[in-house]
Amino acid sequence: MTSSFVSPVFDGHNDLLLRLWLQEQGDPVADFLHGTLSGHLDMARIRQGGFAGGLFAVFVPPAQYARQSKTEYVEEDHDPLAITEAQIALLHQIADRSAGQARICRSVGEIERCMAEGVLAMVLHIEGAEALDEECSQLDRWIAAGLRSIGPLWNLQNRFGAGVTGDFPGSPDSGEGLTPAGLNLLRICNSKKLLIDLSHMNEKSFWQVANLSHAPLVATHSNVHALCPQPRNLTARQLAAIAESDGFVGINFGNAFLRADGKRDESTSLGEMVRHLDALLEKLGEDGVGFGSDFDGISVPGELGDVAGLPRLIAAMTQAGYSRELVEKICWRNWLRVLKKTWGE
Ligand code: ZN
Repeated sequence: MTSSFVSPVFDGHNDLLLRLWLQEQGDPVADFLHGTLSGHLDMARIRQGGFAGGLFAVFVPPAQYARQSKTEYVEEDHDPLAITEAQIALLHQIADRSAGQARICRSVGEIERCMAEGVLAMVLHIEGAEALDEECSQLDRWIAAGLRSIGPLWNLQNRFGAGVTGDFPGSPDSGEGLTPAGLNLLRICNSKKLLIDLSHMNEKSFWQVANLSHAPLVATHSNVHALCPQPRNLTARQLAAIAESDGFVGINFGNAFLRADGKRDESTSLGEMVRHLDALLEKLGEDGVGFGSDFDGISVPGELGDVAGLPRLIAAMTQAGYSRELVEKICWRNWLRVLKKTWGE
């Protein structure tokens, strides 16, 4: 076993900004930068784990969820636009207050420079475009603030379409697809070269994007439905369409997305993660697979723990016979490849 080999990791999804937005006490950005935050991610553990960067999601939680987590929260005042802009501002605060340790990246070249300099590379992503109006009139402002990727839907219905919902076990085929506004957003994303995330799309929305989009198909944080029949995971037909588009899937580290029984049980082994990687490699090839941890959004295998445990995942991949070259592709090279194809730079 060559457990001494480590690789930097570029990752497709985390919910750090939601965690920071939900924190009511003290100064959450300082807690993140000084390595005293709870959850899966902070600067100290990011360095320990070799986490070089990734897509940082802005996510507007349902009003009820926000109220459960924030004692002062008033459901009637729930304002998706204000929440979105507050989370974008948090990402900027991290960069501005990091003393050069973290930067917002808008191109693959910028990500590569960050990786070469040991600076955390943060890409702004929006999960669930609740705050966007039908004309997408906020989009240019957000792009100016760094937005490079968008998942129009989360689990619930919004003006752009229906996200995937349903019990375990279940199929992603759960209702209507993209609305006319959703199809318009898809065209805008294509023309502005924004990545379109398929991860929360139901079956109908998925196929609308597959048929209409000019970009490679990307699911930033989803797994293999045949191994874990959770509606958020990808069916064999969906994976075939992603492969045909020269697309990409980042595996989700969430126990409920990995385990055959769909439980959020932390006894899930790292071998379970390798099983999903094997299945994705078989369908998508060596260039179409990477990570989409969902750190701070889900419960992860106890053996991994948090971002500092990434070298243990890499060791499990090496033990399973993955070459150094393949490990590096999965850890970061494939992400940069598909971003370059999508963003055109
Ligand atoms: Zn998600």
